[in-house]
Amino acid sequence: MTDSHAKSAYGQSVADACRRLGYSSTIEALLTLAALEIKVEIPIIRDNGELAIFTGYRVQHQNARGPCKGGLRYHPQVDIDDVRELASLMTMKTALAGIPLGGGKGGIACNPHEMSQRELEMLTRKFVKRIHREIGPNSDIMAPDVGTNAQTMGWIHSEYSSIYGHSPAAVTGKPLALGGSLGRDKATGFGIGIVVAEYARHRNSPLEGATAVIQGFGNVGFHAAQALTALGVKVVAISDSRSAVRRDAGVDLAALSAQKRSRGSLKDTDGHDSIDPEALFEIDCDYLVPAALGDAIHMGNAARLACRTVVEGANAPVTAEADAALRERGIAIIPDILANAGGVIVSYFEWVQNLQRQIWPLEQVDDELTRILGNAAREVLDHAGEAGLDLRSAAFDIAIRRVKDALDATGI
Ligand code: GLU
Repeated sequence: MTDSHAKSAYGQSVADACRRLGYSSTIEALLTLAALEIKVEIPIIRDNGELAIFTGYRVQHQNARGPCKGGLRYHPQVDIDDVRELASLMTMKTALAGIPLGGGKGGIACNPHEMSQRELEMLTRKFVKRIHREIGPNSDIMAPDVGTNAQTMGWIHSEYSSIYGHSPAAVTGKPLALGGSLGRDKATGFGIGIVVAEYARHRNSPLEGATAVIQGFGNVGFHAAQALTALGVKVVAISDSRSAVRRDAGVDLAALSAQKRSRGSLKDTDGHDSIDPEALFEIDCDYLVPAALGDAIHMGNAARLACRTVVEGANAPVTAEADAALRERGIAIIPDILANAGGVIVSYFEWVQNLQRQIWPLEQVDDELTRILGNAAREVLDHAGEAGLDLRSAAFDIAIRRVKDALDATGI
């Protein structure tokens, strides 16, 4: 973080939207505060025989529209402020998508890359033992996020089910063998393709021959690259946490995946130029997709961006100050609560399938995701056009109005 008072655009967006919508400061406070914040210490025995203690969090932000829903993050920088803000973003994301869920988020401050599978399993199971009374299919449903994956969700499912009986709907993003949904793995990246396609259609700018740069080669970055390539977009550069590569003719995703698997990094992939990851943001392109961690675009690099549009694949990748600076420069931002909502929408499908003991074919998942996320994108684009707003403000207007309607209907 390089900004003096670095924070994401969330608090500002809520305040501005409440002002535009004429909502009271009490409503603004309700949307900013969390309903429940849990902090637990999790002791485990490391593989070297020593005791280590990790701190875990779960924040339930809002459940007016349905059970809290959101990921569980394993990363050394996880703290309560971060988790609270990410939880509130989930409330906005589910509301904007129009799915009957609220917002939550969790995290454990740890470095999963320096832990064995056994250690991660112990950590995850212990965390569930600590918080199981607060989570479940009707209260709070976890899912993968940075540093966690389907296997992590499998452990959560197993531990939770050992207490309450078989309960697949208690957690989403599970392995297929445990009731996971087809299409969940690629959903966030695939959704980025759906949103970019709507955006391009709205602006009458063809995607064929457009260019994209992607920061991040994890689940979101990889599948976003795949989805954009399928739409005819040329992905000319991509990075992982340590390296970046460029190829003006379009990167070769199969070669990059193979290199990442065998060497652990994208560096020196045949046919690609290795570049400085910081230089990635300076490449001239139509779409820049930050798909790694928060605060990737800040006042230290915002002035150097050479893209036409930023597509927020990650959560809160643009700080509030950088958001304003980019707008000033005429660079559009497709906000996280729209751009990366594909993941939670397919999580919702997984939850529905589990509750109904159904298995949807992949085609149904993809079609329903395209319908729901496409609608949300069109609503945001139309509202932005009609009200003369940037896309983040338009998205927050729609989401906040829906949460407020639910609060009103409950009598608060
Ligand atoms: N972690 C993802 C997100 O931030 C997915 C959450 C979910 O599927 O519940 O949207």
